[in-house]
Amino acid sequence: MTDSHLHLQDARLGDPGPILAAVRREKIRALVVNGTHPEDWGEVARLARIAPEVIPSFGLHPWRVGDVPSDWPETLEGRLREFPEAGVGEAGLDRWIRGHDLERQKEVLQIQLELAATLRRPLSLHCLQAWGTLLECLRNADLSAGCLLHSYAGPVEMLGDFIDLGAYFSLSGYFFRDGKEKKLETFESIPPERILLESDAPDMMPPEQFVRFPLPERDGEAINHPANLVSLYEAYARWQGLATADAILRIRRSFASWFFGGERKH
Ligand SMILES: [Zn+2]
Repeated sequence: MTDSHLHLQDARLGDPGPILAAVRREKIRALVVNGTHPEDWGEVARLARIAPEVIPSFGLHPWRVGDVPSDWPETLEGRLREFPEAGVGEAGLDRWIRGHDLERQKEVLQIQLELAATLRRPLSLHCLQAWGTLLECLRNADLSAGCLLHSYAGPVEMLGDFIDLGAYFSLSGYFFRDGKEKKLETFESIPPERILLESDAPDMMPPEQFVRFPLPERDGEAINHPANLVSLYEAYARWQGLATADAILRIRRSFASWFFGGERKH
């Protein structure tokens, strides 16, 4: 199995040792661990060095654009050159978060789109309530090294535009919760070969029946264990009328064409 988007470096998960042991037992063989700010890129890099299943991705998240040293683009490029297998992300746009500055977010996204194009690295993008602006930015970008819209919760009407740009879409267990049926339904309009699965651990808590690996709450907030992804594979297979083994194979192929399909440059 592959986890196309998570934050294993997040301190809310606690010691990554036991988490990685559980992930290995469950046969999750590739995890795209997304950094969000220069502060956590070091831990992402460390995890990539100690765990062969960790595929690092380095990016500046739209929630973190306000408090970042001005030399972050050089630091980011340094990390990407240090890890030729690394992707770019988590980057994106977010008009949902309080106090957002969309213009600043656009500038920051633009720098990351250019770096991904120059170094030919796959992108992992976040978007909330800024889909039109995101589409404009992506139309002017070179996405030929691969582009993932993680936890896609945008309008079904815009899918065609993003599909035409070659985007992939990842589904998280969260969309199987009661009340999220509309979000899940959106995925019915996406070609199966463009769909990936993600835990987004420690966030995006799936419904209770998915939680096989409970973790203690932090400050009253539920914490999603990456290995809960196994339940998502099973639910996705049932939803698609596939045997779980066939669903795993399908997602693995899509994952490879998103992340490794483009031509790489170091
Ligand atoms: Zn994320």
